[in-house]
Formats: sequence, C-alpha cells, structure tokens
Amino acid sequence: MPAAAEPVVVETARAKLNLDLFVTGRRPDGWHELDSLVVFAELADRLELRPAPTLSLAIEGPTSPGLPADERNLVLRAARSLQQECAIERGAAIRLEKHLPVAAGIGGGSADAAAALRGLRRLWNLALDDERLRELGSRLGADVPVCLYGKPARMRGIGERLDPVRGLPDLPLVLVNPGRELATKSVFAALDGAFGPADRAPLRAGSGLHRLAVWLAESRNDLEPPARRLEPAIGLVLEALAGLSGCLLARMSGSGATCFGLFGDRGEAETAALLLRKRHPDWWVAPTVAFGDPR
Ligand code: ATP
Repeated sequence: MPAAAEPVVVETARAKLNLDLFVTGRRPDGWHELDSLVVFAELADRLELRPAPTLSLAIEGPTSPGLPADERNLVLRAARSLQQECAIERGAAIRLEKHLPVAAGIGGGSADAAAALRGLRRLWNLALDDERLRELGSRLGADVPVCLYGKPARMRGIGERLDPVRGLPDLPLVLVNPGRELATKSVFAALDGAFGPADRAPLRAGSGLHRLAVWLAESRNDLEPPARRLEPAIGLVLEALAGLSGCLLARMSGSGATCFGLFGDRGEAETAALLLRKRHPDWWVAPTVAFGDPR
C-alpha cells in the first residue's frame, strides 16, 4: 500500500509595491519614518513547507541564483525565531521557489519571511495570534508586518503602523528591474533634504483606476532621487515605462531599483511588457496585477 501523502503547507509571498513613499522623519536611533501606500501583486515567490525533524531550506526558481540558502536567508531566520518564541523542537523542510528579483525594492525577502511565519504557524499548529506574529516579524525587518497583512495598507512609522486602505481597484502593472541590486541601506544613506509630513490629499474610496492614477501623480517616492543617483539605469527604466502606450503612471517602488508602470487594463500591460522585453532584453520585465480591496 502506498504511504499516505505527507502534509504540505503552501504559502504565497507576494511582491510588495509602494505606490508612493514619503520619508517623514528620522528617529534618534537612525531609522527613518515613512508614510507609504502599499499594495500586493499576483506575482509572488512560493513556499512549500513539510514536516521534518530539523530545519532546512532549498531554493530554486528564476531569480534564485546567488541567493544564500543558509542562515542569512530570511526564511530560515524567520523559522528560527518562531522556533525560539514558541519553544518548538520540530523542524521543517522548506522549499522556496523564487520569482521576485532580490534587493529590488519589492520586498521579496520580507514577503518570504512573512510567508514562512504564516506557513510554520500552520504546519506546527501554533496558537500564536496575528499580533504576536506581527511583533515577531517586525524584529526580522521593517516590511515584514505589512507583508504579513498582505492587503492594501497605509504604512507608517518604521513599518509598524498599518491602516487598511479599502476601495482600491485592481491595478494592472508592468514591473521592470534593470538587473542591478540596490541595497536599501545605501539608498537611505544617500537621502538628503528635509523631512516632513506626507503632503497628499486624502484618497477617496472607490474612485476608479484613472482617478487613482491622477491622485497618485500628485504624490511621489522620496527614495527615487537618491536611488537614481546611485543607479542611473532607474531613470532609463522610468522613461521607457512612461513612453509606453497606455501607461498612466511610472514610479519606482520602495528603495528600487524596480519600477512599476500602471496601465488601464491587463491587456495593455501585457502588450507593453512584450514591447519592453523586445527593446531591453537585459531587463527583468513582468506584467502583473496588484490586488485592490473593492469591499
Ligand atoms: P525592501 O523592499 O523590503 O527594502 P528589497 O526588495 O529591496 O526589500 P529583498 O529582496 O527583500 O530586498 O532583499 C534584501 C536583502 O535580503 C538581500 O541582500 C538578500 O540577500 C537578503 N535576503 C535574505 N533572504 C532573502 C530572501 N528569501 N529573498 C530575497 N532576499 C533575501
């Protein structure tokens, strides 16, 4: 008789997009405070978690080359911290299928850490509420709490203040990375200028894609100027995206170098992505949709 299939938990680690990002202050400990509208895309890494006596991580997928599978990986760091927090002696065999570019401003590492925390809570049957999981996540990285939340949110402070954003439409996007890793730390270090509160008008719920694009055009990503100075290819990406037929807005996400173009529908985004790939075969180009929350 065949052995019963071993239980497997599957989790999705979605790309995080900062539709805008204001740097609003700097704390005495050096951390910057932000105010950012964050959404999550269909495009994602995938984690499979199976019961095992010890912890292990195997990585594959198109963007996996060069990514360490040892204790430097946020997936294993998340797993270890959960083991410690809950005094768990069991392990897990984790397989990470990597699709998101690394050190790219779309929070791949944070999304993987969040997916590992969610997946292991299920696999190990832990009675750990969302708040404790978020607290644990925040120790792994500023973007982990919002990745645990996984829905449109206004993120403030150093990532710990989250407010749901309701009424956003689905957003057809083309994501483009010029193929250069950009460390978040260096972008913040290159930031100059005064900080101040986010000067954006309140977002009216249910305003539709085109009105959202107009509203977004009034805001900005404060990390874009320093990132462009460090990596001039970002300017080329933004120019190429903005020049594509149907592009409503082109902007950098997070600390870069990935930029997104917002399009009127999925078909336009897919056509634009094909054209861009032809023109720039060395760039990473991915059409996707960021999920709104129309309820
Ligand atoms: P953010 O948008 O949150 O600033 P990012 O997209 O710029 O993040 P990540 O892809 O999260 O950057 O990677 C940041 C660093 O984390 C990289 O230097 C990478 O080596 C390390 N890292 C550790 N684990 C992972 C992982 N599972 N996936 C991606 N990067 C990881």
